[in-house]
Amino acid sequence: MGIIPKSLKTLTLELQRLPGIGPKSARRIAYFLFSLPQERLTFLGDSFKDLKQSVTTCSFCNMLADTNPCEVCGDATRELTSLCVVADHMDVYAIERTAGYKGMYFVLGGLLSPVKGHGPADIAGAGLIKRLHQLKKMQKNNNRLEVIFALSPTTEGQTTALYLKEELKNEFGDNLLLSRVAVGISVGTDIDYVDTYTLQEALKGRSLL
Ligand SMILES: [Zn+2]
Repeated sequence: MGIIPKSLKTLTLELQRLPGIGPKSARRIAYFLFSLPQERLTFLGDSFKDLKQSVTTCSFCNMLADTNPCEVCGDATRELTSLCVVADHMDVYAIERTAGYKGMYFVLGGLLSPVKGHGPADIAGAGLIKRLHQLKKMQKNNNRLEVIFALSPTTEGQTTALYLKEELKNEFGDNLLLSRVAVGISVGTDIDYVDTYTLQEALKGRSLL
């Protein structure tokens, strides 16, 4: 390894720490970066430097954003009657790409996982309750606020949804409409290949034609 220049070696080791990047890919990326013109590298370097300074967390929904409130929470055209609860920022981006949801969001920042040692303190349950109180105050015509759980259909996602359901029931009684996104068969899938659990959930969550 002594023949590899020190800067390239350091960069390779740093890149290797990124998710999904193995030693080989790290080396390839490091050499690719070296081949770029200096101005591109300076621009990249500046982006890294600005990353933490320019990005803030929305105090209403926990989303990473340029401003506080974020674009969604500050958008007067969004519907205040539904709040979609997600585990991660990336989930918001995925739902926004569908262009089919016009309500608000709340990012938990994780899921409950006894196996990984993630308990209630590791998710923003208190922040969710605070946000729901804010939204309830903003409701016009006594609209019932809907909380949509868009959490992965895994043990962790289900445990988190059940825990929060209880918390919200304790805090708001029956004043909230609680729902979860449908679990079922992917578009284009042959039913024959769907696992039993998914098929059971798909049957439970069937909708009228
Ligand atoms: Zn926000």
